[in-house]
Order: sequence, then structure tokens, then C-alpha cells
Amino acid sequence: MTTPRNAHNSHGVEPVALARPRGIDQIVAGVSTSDGDGVKLTRVLHQTLQQRLDPYLMLDAFGSDNPGDYIGGFPSHPHRGFETVTYMISGRMRHRDSAGHEGLLSNGGVQWMTAGRGLIHSELPEQEEGLMEGFQLWLNLPAKDKLRDPWYRDIQSEEIPEFTTPANVHVRVIAGESHGVQGAVQREHTEPLYLDITMPPGTEFSQRLPHTHNALLYVFRESLYIGNSEIPTKRMAIFANDPGSDGVVLHAPASNHSPARALLIAGKPLHEPIAQYGPFVMNTREQVLEAVQDFQSGKLG
Ligand code: MN
Repeated sequence: MTTPRNAHNSHGVEPVALARPRGIDQIVAGVSTSDGDGVKLTRVLHQTLQQRLDPYLMLDAFGSDNPGDYIGGFPSHPHRGFETVTYMISGRMRHRDSAGHEGLLSNGGVQWMTAGRGLIHSELPEQEEGLMEGFQLWLNLPAKDKLRDPWYRDIQSEEIPEFTTPANVHVRVIAGESHGVQGAVQREHTEPLYLDITMPPGTEFSQRLPHTHNALLYVFRESLYIGNSEIPTKRMAIFANDPGSDGVVLHAPASNHSPARALLIAGKPLHEPIAQYGPFVMNTREQVLEAVQDFQSGKLG
């Protein structure tokens, strides 16, 4: 086995010791729904949690080995006013957009798209069978950037910085910074942290985090503990913003039969009004109506 260039061994990783880790505010099950052309998914972060988890607007989890659950994909549709981050655990999806970007998202890769003033894109499976599993996260843009130029980056799996702690916890740093390792993407205003953490039974992991940043944990293999509370698989924990707290600590119980795996996502809230209509997220109702009119008159594509 060779060591990929983006992998840091435990010698290069800064240890993190926390004195006052955060507690839990609530545990959320998510809602089963479908979107696009009949893609079955679980909406983990839905509209009623947008203020609570500012700057995040949505988190969808999809995962099925039944092609009927995903084969229709997401045909041409518009976006304006925010960023979409798609993380593919398993499967292949082709992206095309009206700004001229095209890319294939596959196993372990990330597609980061800034819709800005708007575009029309399609996200279509490039497989007819097998497992398709992954996540789509929507990250808001500050008011001043909502009409910026669209931006797009395909981040292949081998380009995502990774490290392993001395306890053998493996971390993929999609955005932000963890244990001294810089992630693939940085954003100035929302300071997103996006980690994919794999924890063998009986291990612990700590992440430093300003208490004002909103933070969530979505467990998708086995279970994890935050303090004395168990977060079962397919549940999202929203961390409390305890004043004086210095980060979050996760424990994988020794009773797990295999490594637990979870997304740890955090960001700096924008504290700006949120006005959403489907794929348009602006600050006021008037701006949303303008987006709909621009789409209908062909100005987004
Ligand atoms: Mn889309």
C-alpha cells in the first residue's frame, strides 16, 4: 500500500486537548422525501433548522443500492444565492452547468459549486446499478456575495487532505482546519468546517471550535457519544453553543462492532435574513421573486 501525498501521519498532526467541550442541544432524525426526478433521500437539515444552523441551509443524505431510488437523478434546475457541496461516498454522478462547467463526481470526491447570481445545472447518476451513497450540503452566501459570479470545483478523492491521529482516528478535511491540517476549501465569511471522521471502537476525537459557530454531527456508521448521550446511526446531533466552551469531543463506544463514521460540520453564522423559495435563497421576498422572474425569462442560463 502506498501513502497518498495528501495523507499526514500522526507525527505531523497537532494534538488537541479541550477543557470545556460542548453539550448537545437536540438530536434530529431527518425526514424521508424525494427530490429531483424521484431520488429518495433523507432531509436531515430542513428549512425549520436554517436559523439554528446558520450558515447552513440544508443537508440531504442519500444512500441506496436500488437503482429505482436514484436513477432519475437531478435533471436541469436553477440555483441562486448560496453554495452546494456534494460529497460522494460511493457512486458516480455527472455534473453539467450553464456556466460551462462539467465534471464527474465519484467515490470519495467532492463537488463544490458556488451558485452566486445563478446558473442551471444537472446532476445525473453515471451508473445503472450498485450503491449510490452521499450527501448534499447547502452553505449560505453573505448578502454581498449572493450575486457574485458562479464558481465550481471538482475535488477528487485523492486531493482531499487526510490525517490519522495516534489513536487511529482517520479524518478527511473537506473544508476548514483540523489538528493543523488545512482542508481542501476555505471560505472567509462562513468559515466552514467539514470533516468526515472514522473512529474505531473505543476511540476519542477532539475538535477545537469557537462557541459562536453553529455545529452539527451526522452519524452514518455505528454510533457515537457526545458526553453521556448516544447518537445512533442516521441521526444528527446539534451541538449547544455553550459560552466558554472550546470545542467538541466525540467518543466511539468500545461496544461498536466496526468503526463509526460521521460528518462534523460547523460554520460562522451570517445573522442575515433568510428568504428561500426552492432552489433560490436570498435575503428578502422581493429578491426571491426577482430570481424566479430571471429564471423564467432565461437570465440564469
Ligand atoms: Mn442542484
